[in-house]
Amino acid sequence: MEKIWFHFHGGAREVGNVGCTIEKEGCEALLIDYGLAASKPPRYPSPTPPVKNAVITHAHIDHIGMAPWLVGQHGTKLHSTPLVSALSEIMWRDTYKVSSIEGYPLTWDKRDIEDSLESWIPHDHGDPFDLDGWICTLHGAGHVPGASMIELEAPGVKILWTGDIDTRMSPNVIGAKPSKCDILVMEATYAGRDHLDRVAEEDRLVERIQEVRGRGGVALIPSFASGRGQDIIKILHDKDPSLNVHYDGMGTRISKIWTDHPAYLRDPTGFERAIRWTKRVRGKSDRFKALEADVIVTTSGMLDGGPAIWYLNRLRHDSANAILLTGYQAPGSGGRSLLDTGALPIYKRMTKVELEVDQFDLSNHAGRSELLDFAMACEPRHLILFHTPDEDVDEFSALFGKNPPFEISIPINGRDLVVELDTQEANR
Ligand SMILES: [Zn+2]
Repeated sequence: MEKIWFHFHGGAREVGNVGCTIEKEGCEALLIDYGLAASKPPRYPSPTPPVKNAVITHAHIDHIGMAPWLVGQHGTKLHSTPLVSALSEIMWRDTYKVSSIEGYPLTWDKRDIEDSLESWIPHDHGDPFDLDGWICTLHGAGHVPGASMIELEAPGVKILWTGDIDTRMSPNVIGAKPSKCDILVMEATYAGRDHLDRVAEEDRLVERIQEVRGRGGVALIPSFASGRGQDIIKILHDKDPSLNVHYDGMGTRISKIWTDHPAYLRDPTGFERAIRWTKRVRGKSDRFKALEADVIVTTSGMLDGGPAIWYLNRLRHDSANAILLTGYQAPGSGGRSLLDTGALPIYKRMTKVELEVDQFDLSNHAGRSELLDFAMACEPRHLILFHTPDEDVDEFSALFGKNPPFEISIPINGRDLVVELDTQEANR
């Protein structure tokens, strides 16, 4: 009998805030991801005991936001793809800046960022490496370029940790492929619902923009800096190159790092062409010029600040303009408030915005059906569901039937989950 311990410091029965220690006799303890949840107020994973190695799935803040603490406190080595390590500096500096502006506490400081940048050990997808007893291999996770699923092998057990996954093709990355394992640890952000058809949503977005342009308006597209903004640019370039698109905010710097790592992009030449086609906003005067564009793609994706608010404050006076939301709008965010009440805070003043608002489903996470199919195709003996809304996960788990083909666990933060595997059945 092989025993494996999973200890979630965060990310169990919640979305984001991920951090989990995995232990097995004969192997050094290993940490997967160490993020935070940028909710209001933010949530943090519990402190980890000293750990030599952490494997990081991708550079979104809910997966790497607390890694500087790990390095500062324990001198932990960080393992990821080269693209994720290259993106980490922007993400950490932005987290630090936002925490100072919003006044939320961080248990790490700027010096920890410097040390963390030195602690990366990059690994390409498909190249196995040894982590004191575990053989670790990173595989493409879909989701965003450079994001990984983590395969861990030790005598008697193979674990697949999905990180954030999307099995569908998306504009800039190819979908994640299932792989046979004993224990599948799977995110289930969309345990609660299926997505609309992606291509149909992309077409609807372009049609809506053309409509807005036709009536002399500007379409403001608030987008996350790392993933969604670049998807929008690629879609618009491929479907209607006659559009005049201006690109502002942190996403422009992230795009530059993407183009430096072409191996992780679905269509590197096409992506570079699309980015060059946009007019990059570099300063105040560019911002005024952008007000004459057909489309402005910028941060923040949830209208919580950033250039999007600057633009909205000017565009809101002309009803020909429109706001096209392309991502999840969390409770408490400006975008959520706009959808629910028609008003949102602009420079701290609740302001009514009487523009057309529309929302598009362009998610980079697998939806409910894709998750079910993925889990079945991996043929695990044990399934662990994490990174999932508390209110949806039990119903989702029941979809595998009264006698599911594998044991299913829904862990709880701060408690040990022990998985016992009969070694007779192992050796797949
Ligand atoms: Zn993510």
